[in-house]
Amino acid sequence: MTKPLCERAPRVDVRELKRRGIVGNSTTTIAIDGASVEISHTACFLGGARPYFLCPECDRRAAILYNRRYWACRNCHALAYASENETTADRRRRKIFKARARLNQCNHTQGMLAPFPAKPKWMRWHTYLRGRRRALALEQSHYSAIKVAFNL
Ligand SMILES: [Zn+2]
Repeated sequence: MTKPLCERAPRVDVRELKRRGIVGNSTTTIAIDGASVEISHTACFLGGARPYFLCPECDRRAAILYNRRYWACRNCHALAYASENETTADRRRRKIFKARARLNQCNHTQGMLAPFPAKPKWMRWHTYLRGRRRALALEQSHYSAIKVAFNL
């Protein structure tokens, strides 16, 4: 039995509410779908405060609340991240896509089949070359694993 995924559940992120100015440094409660949810703040090292929801079910701090008939944290709903169901190969591919995206690869549909991205204008050569070495090493190990899996 696989757990339901948090990526598929409606969510509200307290950090997003703060960015939009809906949650301020002194906000203590907020109404979500008519239900009142408490907010706590922790002090940041360099000043300011980081807001958290207090989960209406378990009273623990959470940055995100999910809705599955009621609002609660990921733990209370027993939600899993999509990445928890990934195979080793899925994980490797996601790492490669991420490494390429860091180098500004625009064509995400082609993934590794797209030509390797050229250095973005704004990126320093040192950064680009380090990212390129990293991405190519990941791709090399991915192809090696495929060779082993298919006995090539
Ligand atoms: Zn909870």
